[in-house]
Amino acid sequence: MFQKILIANRGEIALRVLRACKELGIQTVVVHSTADADAMHVRLADESVCIGPPPSRDSYLNIHQIVAACEITGADAVHPGYGFLSENAKFADILAAHNITFIGPTGDHIRIMGDKIEAKRTAKRLGIPVVPGSDGAVSEEKEAKRIAAEIGYPVIIKASAGGGGRGMKVAHTEADLEVALQTARSEAGAAFGDDAVYIEKYLQKPRHIEVQVFGDGFGRGVHFGERDCSLQRRHQKVWEEANSPALNAEERSRIGGVCAKAIADLGYSGAGTIEFLYENGEFYFIEMNTRLQVEHPVTEAITGIDLVHEQIRVASGGGLSVKQEDIKFNGHAIECRINAEDPRTFTPSPGTITHFHTPGGLGIRVDSGVYSGYKIPPYYDSLIGKLIVHGRNRVECMMRLRRALDEFVVDGIKTTLPLFRDLVGNADIANGDYDIHWLEKYLAKEE
Ligand code: ADP
Repeated sequence: MFQKILIANRGEIALRVLRACKELGIQTVVVHSTADADAMHVRLADESVCIGPPPSRDSYLNIHQIVAACEITGADAVHPGYGFLSENAKFADILAAHNITFIGPTGDHIRIMGDKIEAKRTAKRLGIPVVPGSDGAVSEEKEAKRIAAEIGYPVIIKASAGGGGRGMKVAHTEADLEVALQTARSEAGAAFGDDAVYIEKYLQKPRHIEVQVFGDGFGRGVHFGERDCSLQRRHQKVWEEANSPALNAEERSRIGGVCAKAIADLGYSGAGTIEFLYENGEFYFIEMNTRLQVEHPVTEAITGIDLVHEQIRVASGGGLSVKQEDIKFNGHAIECRINAEDPRTFTPSPGTITHFHTPGGLGIRVDSGVYSGYKIPPYYDSLIGKLIVHGRNRVECMMRLRRALDEFVVDGIKTTLPLFRDLVGNADIANGDYDIHWLEKYLAKEE
């Protein structure tokens, strides 16, 4: 087992990883920018190293400084959290070259899944169902038209190097296709330095359903069920639940089994998430994230398993603490992402939190790095906390969520709490009846 883990992240996820390390009796080092000197994870860590000024590229993305911090403190492993360097293959390779363990998959696996065309090709080869479309990159208009005619309109053109919901264009007719192809290519070239794009069928009313997987480092794979993350705004997840209200036990075990086998065949090690669009009872692979996800606590709530413990065990060569047959799904969990944003316009609302009071009681978990008097710096993303609620079934979970939202107090800044108070009283949400467009339509109506 590791002696000392360096946490290369900030905010709630840095605290989340720190808690797991403490439970396992592992020493912790955190790195931070000058803007985060007062952060909770810095206060609670055994050691901290300031690695640079506020902008991420000079601190949390500065590989050189982070490796130096490992060497100075003698850390033998790095947990990257999510975002920042968590899906940076070069970072994983550099750590390996320095004999420091990257708590995540190999650089090669990160590279494959970071290239969407390669990821889709790999998924298909491993028997994962994919969205019908081109086999690789498409650059010629003639070829694009032939493929679109074959799969049928509407189609979506996506950048191979895309991410964060950027670099996608929908074409509803052949007349739209030429412009969509040109703009997608030039936008991808400008944004990602790679103009490769591919075409796939545009699904009209899908849900976003993702499967939590783990490779144990010894060629075995397991799944921890799915999460439904269909409630999104601008491709950003807002509310996540496990299990999905749309799946039955047979579908869950079928898609879970396909994913677990694929992970085993790939020889993957550590945590991963295989993302699907789900429509009319069919799953369509869209991408795989080779890291821990923001929404992992809903899976922890229904399985009772600490996924960060498992990540650390696997990375240290100790394998998983559970086999597939030990993983049972109990009840229902929902996560609300609380952002420091105006709940109507979603513009960021940095500033000082004058009062912070979190709900408590059975089935409530709050993962947050903020506290009363904390000043939110304007440099990073606006997530200030996650409320995760568990109940024996979805109805109990929603009842508990409603009262937890009533108890939650964040004063001094604007947050998205009022949005969740509205959603929890909505009939479609109560019925679990929503797709990936539901939230944007709802917000447009409210305006
Ligand atoms: P990113 O890496 O940028 O997040 P994804 O491939 O995961 O890109 O797609 C992001 C979102 O775009 C999906 O959650 C979905 O809302 C939409 N999307 C992607 N592909 C399709 C498709 N074939 N049909 C309909 N919507 C899609």
